[in-house]
Formats: sequence, structure tokens, C-alpha cells
Amino acid sequence: MTTAARTDYEAVIGVEVHIQLKTKSKMFCGCNREYFDTEPNTHVCAVCLGMPGMLPVINEQAVTYTLLAGLALGCEIPRHSKFDRKNYPYPDLMKGYQISQYDQPFCVGGSLTIEVDGRQQVVHLERIHLEEDTARLLHRDDGAETYSLLDVNRSGSPLMELVTKPDMHSGVEAAAFLRKLRQTMRYLGIADADMEKGGMRADANVSIRPRGQVELGRKVEVKNMNSFRAVQRAIEFEIERQSRLADAGERIKQETRGYVDATGETVSQRSKEEANDYRYFPEPDLPPMVIEPETIEAVRARLPELPDARRARFEREYGLTPDEARTLTESHATAETYEAAVRLAGAPLARPVALWFIGEVARRLNTLGHADAELSDTRVTPAHIAELTRLVADGAVTGSTAKDILDAAFETGEMPAAIVDARGLRVVRDEGAVEAVVKAAIEANPKAVTDYRAGKQAAVGFLVGQVMREMKGRADATSVADIVRRLLDVSA
Ligand code: ZN
Ligand code: MN
Repeated sequence: MTTAARTDYEAVIGVEVHIQLKTKSKMFCGCNREYFDTEPNTHVCAVCLGMPGMLPVINEQAVTYTLLAGLALGCEIPRHSKFDRKNYPYPDLMKGYQISQYDQPFCVGGSLTIEVDGRQQVVHLERIHLEEDTARLLHRDDGAETYSLLDVNRSGSPLMELVTKPDMHSGVEAAAFLRKLRQTMRYLGIADADMEKGGMRADANVSIRPRGQVELGRKVEVKNMNSFRAVQRAIEFEIERQSRLADAGERIKQETRGYVDATGETVSQRSKEEANDYRYFPEPDLPPMVIEPETIEAVRARLPELPDARRARFEREYGLTPDEARTLTESHATAETYEAAVRLAGAPLARPVALWFIGEVARRLNTLGHADAELSDTRVTPAHIAELTRLVADGAVTGSTAKDILDAAFETGEMPAAIVDARGLRVVRDEGAVEAVVKAAIEANPKAVTDYRAGKQAAVGFLVGQVMREMKGRADATSVADIVRRLLDVSA
């Protein structure tokens, strides 16, 4: 590909993210919010079905969660906020309007620092507001006709919408932002933010401009991305498409485009001219909100340690390398189970425990076949890892035996010490017992003895192997080698 003739464009990207909050009940009614894997239309009431005359009641937990997110991301929490009606007709919108927040959201400003290629970058936020989710339309085609079914379980679930400033410049950065956002939501415990399950839905505003130009280009909104990878690919495609149009002297249309996963392309959905006029107005059925400073401080007191802080503390407190600390804090669940194991094993073993988690444990979790497998999905607990680390540190078992013990623990859930006792895996400390096995090996292998006398050091390794096999690994290979040499030298 020749690039010499092309203008150097800079892409400018902002994202709008909808995140489902893990509250007990829905946003404006008492219905159970859990709806995955449940029968359609079983978590509904007159309010979330949109019956006329029904009055909404604000879910305090959803407001608290939004404030938690805002404080974690350094937003300002204005004293006054309110809900508004956003009007648009669509079959999945039960009332014909969505209760959302227009000009007085709960959170304003703020930022999230991401890391791309080892370089830190601040992505500023415009705002975070709270609204309600829609019902779900299920499109069917039974061959004879196509039709749509409506599942109202999701209707009225709390949805937090976060809008960034156009601070990103590539698909990689946008994906990194969303990953960090998901991580932060999980640390806060307010959302699972799973893109594949629709728990986090991101739209991207993408425009390009000749590098050096201040004025922004015409922006295209890209929707329909169901994974981090899809976000990255959709944006990359869009930058390429717009650059090609601009190079050809064509006008970039301001429009909404949908990402098609199968082809990796975006296709036009609707143009600016067809955009909705939402006719926002203050929700008459809900009072304006006043968030007192005491409320903000009470929520702030609930903020947990966030990913960056925890990573720094792991390095400092447990002597981990930056990479090790990053790996262990990537998932909140892993960070928790790791620290639980450290508490049981004792701080001096913090690093050996870390190495188990990063190496052998991660390897076994990967074989479980789903991307986010955690220790809690298995029969192994932090106590298993702590005990195993201790057994190795005390010299009770060798490193290679320990891996077999871990396999057995994953299989049966038995504790490592019990496995060691049941299978007789303890390292034989009795020098005499080891010597007896070495002697037998020397007698059984006269050729190795001849080789050794001829100066072939490989003979030592061979004999050590014989002894280790005979003892089923329950000996320390270094001391076995010492004994082999000593006995060979004596017999010489
Ligand atoms: Zn309801
Ligand atoms: Mn929205």
C-alpha cells in the first residue's frame, strides 16, 4: 500500500456508554431487576409496562451507584439534578418516552486514565447520567413470516450513561478505555459491564481531520458493537473509510452507521436529516433532586480501593513486579482471591503465592474454556494455594510434585496437605533412605559407573533420573546429585 500521496489524518473519537447497574430492583418500580435466563415478561408491573397513570419512584440504590461511579471517576456532583422525559416512538419503549436526564445530570466532568503501549493517557468525561432501559425486541423468522416478540423484563432497569469528550484517537484507545471502565465498574461492584451480554453498550463518535487542523470533522456515530474487539475493528474501519472518502475529495456525511461483525464493516443506518427531536421536558411525576454534601461524603466513604491504587499497593506491599501486580489486579475477583491466599500463607510468602496464581493457576483456569474463568468457578480455594505454597516453602514437597498436587486439588477439591499424606508425596528427608536408593541405582547401572569414570558427567544426570523415578519425585534433585557423586567417588 502506498501512503505517500495521502493526507495524514488524525482521528478524533468519543464514546457514549450505557451500563446496566446491578441493583436489586428496577429504576422506578419494585420489580426484580434480574432478567437474564428468566421467562420473558415475568418481571413486570404496571409501572414498567408503561400503563397510563402509574407513578414512578426513584430507586435510591441506582442513584447511589451512579454517585459511586462519578466519585470514582473524579466527577463533580452538582447539588441540583433532575429527571426529564425523552420522547420517541419505538415499540421497545413502553411509555412512548424514556425517563432520562437532560441538562442536569448527576455527574459532570471527571476522567479515566488508560494505558496504551506503556504510555498513560487521560480520557476526560463530559457527564454521567441515569436513565431507564427499554424492553427487548426479539425478531423472529419462522419461514412463513417474520415478526417481533417483546420481552418487557428489561424495561425500566437502571441504565447509567457515560459520555466522554473526544479525547481518543484510535480503535485501540477506545477499546482500552472500555476495558478500564469495565474493570472500574467491577471494582465498584455496581455493574458487570459485560459487552457480550449487553451489560455495557458502547457507541462511538468518529471523525477525522488533517493532522494539525483544530476544527473537528463531521462526525459519524457507530453503533452495534458487542465486544471490545468489535469496538476496535469498527473504529479502525471507520477511520479508513473516512480517510479514503476525504482523499477522493468526497464529503463525509454526518450519519449513524451500524457495525456488522461478520464483515468487519460499518453500514449506513440513518442520516442526520432523519434524526429524532426528543422534545425533552422535566419529568412531571418526579421531584427535582437535591444531593447534599453529606450524602456525597457518605457515598465517598464507600469507595473501595480502585485498580490503579491496588496495583501500586501490590508492588509496594508484596514486592511484586509491575507486570505481576498488573496481572493480579486485572480482575477484581483475582485480586481478592490472591489477597485472601496471602493472608493465609503469611506476607513473607506473598510473592511465591503470586507466582502460583500467575503461572500454574492461570494456566489451569484457561483450560476451563470460558474467558473470564475465576478460581471461584473451581473446587480450589485461596486456602489450597496458601497451603501448597507453604508446603513448597517448607521443603515438604518439590516444585514438580506441587504441580501434581495442584492438579489433584483442581480435580477433587482435597487440601494439598491431605493429598500429600494420602499419596505419600512428602520429600524424603532421611539421607540414609535416599542413599539406599542411590546405591541400588549404581549397582543396577554398571555402564553409568564406567561412563562416570571415563569423565562423562552426563552419567550423574542419568543416575539422578533413575533415583527420582524410583522415589516418584519425592526427593530433592540437587541433594540426590550430591549423593550420587559422593558414592561414585567413594567406589572409584
Ligand atoms: Zn415493574
Ligand atoms: Mn441513553
